[in-house]
Amino acid sequence: MKKKLFAFSMAAIMVAGMTAGCSKPATDTQEPAGEETGTESEALGDVSVGVCIYKFDDTFMTGVRNNMQAQADAMGISLEVVDSQNKQPTQNEQVDTFITKGVTALAVNPVDRTAAGPLVEKASAAGLPIVFFNREPEADVMQSYDKVWYVGAKAEESGTMSGEIIADYWNAHKDTMDKNGDGKLQYIMITGEPGHQDATLRTEYSVKALQDAGIEVEKLAEDTAMWDKVKATDLMKAFISSHGIDSIEAILCNNDDMALGAIEALKSEGYNTGDPAKYIPVVGVDATAPALEAMANGSLLGTVLNDAENQGIATTNIAAQAAAGNEITEETIGYEITDGKYVWVPYVKVTADNYADFQ
Ligand code: BGC
Ligand code: CA
Repeated sequence: MKKKLFAFSMAAIMVAGMTAGCSKPATDTQEPAGEETGTESEALGDVSVGVCIYKFDDTFMTGVRNNMQAQADAMGISLEVVDSQNKQPTQNEQVDTFITKGVTALAVNPVDRTAAGPLVEKASAAGLPIVFFNREPEADVMQSYDKVWYVGAKAEESGTMSGEIIADYWNAHKDTMDKNGDGKLQYIMITGEPGHQDATLRTEYSVKALQDAGIEVEKLAEDTAMWDKVKATDLMKAFISSHGIDSIEAILCNNDDMALGAIEALKSEGYNTGDPAKYIPVVGVDATAPALEAMANGSLLGTVLNDAENQGIATTNIAAQAAAGNEITEETIGYEITDGKYVWVPYVKVTADNYADFQ
C-alpha cells in the first residue's frame, strides 16, 4: 500500500517535521517525527485526544484506528480510543467521560451521523476541538461551532469507480457476462448501513456509472447487509435461492467485507473458484487486505481504495494541532482543507492492473 500513498504520507511527515521546529521539510521520510525535538513538539507532547469509534468490530475502521494510533505515537501525543459498541447513548457517555478526564481534543466516528449535534454542543461547552471522521455530520452541525472538522472521502467517487470496474468488464466480456443474451446487465446490489452517506451514494453512483457507460441495467435485488461479511453471505444465499444463480450477471457491494461475504455464497455454489464457466464479477470498496488477497486469487474482480492510512493521519493531525492551539491549515496538517472544515481523502480504483501496488 505504501507506494501509492507516498505523496500523502510524506506530506504528513513533513508537517510533523515542521512542527518539530524544522524550517525545511524533513528529508528522511523514514524517521518518525515524534523522535525529533523542538519547542512546538513539546507543546504537542501535552496533547491528549479522546477517540470514539462507532464499533471496533469493523474491518475498515480498525484500519483507521491503527493508523491514528501509529501517527499519535510518531508525534508523541497521547490517544485514548474507546469502542462505542454501535450505540449512540454509549458514545455520548464516553464523550462526557473524556471531557471530565480532561482530554484536550475529541475525535469521533459517530454511531449515528445525524446525532452529531449533541456531541458538538458538549465539545463547545468545554471549549474543545472535535474532529469527526468516516460518518459525516449534517452541514448545519458542522457550521454550529468553529472548532469542528470532518475527515472523510467523497462517496460519489467510490461509487463511480466501482461501477466503472464492472462496466469495463462488461465491455470486454459481454458475450459471457450477458448470460441470458438480452443485452442488459442483471445485477444484485448489497448496501451498507441505511443512512450512511457511503451506502446511499455508492449505490447511486455505481449504477449511474454503468448507465453513463451506455449499459442498460436491470436490478434483480437490493438489500442491506450492514457492512457485514456474515450478513452478506446470508443475504446472497437468499438472493441465489429466489432468483437462481444463472440469472445473476454482476454483484455490486458497498464495501469489501460484504463483497467477500457474497463470494462465500457463490463459492458454496461452485462459483468464483477458478472455473471460468462459473464466474460472476463482484466489486467492493475499501481495498482491505483480505479483499486484495481475493483479487490475487481471482474471486473478487475489483475494489476501490478507501484510504484508512491518510484518513487516520489527517484526523490525528487536526486533533493534535487544534489541541495545541495552532490554526488548521494545509501547512499545519499536511492535507488540503475545504471550506475551512473538511479534509477529503481521494479514493483510488483498484483493478487487476494495480492491486499488487496496494498489498
Ligand atoms: C467503509 C465500510 C465501513 C464504514 C463504517 C465505510 O467508509 O467503506 O467498510 O464499514 O465506513 O462507517
Ligand atoms: Ca443480461
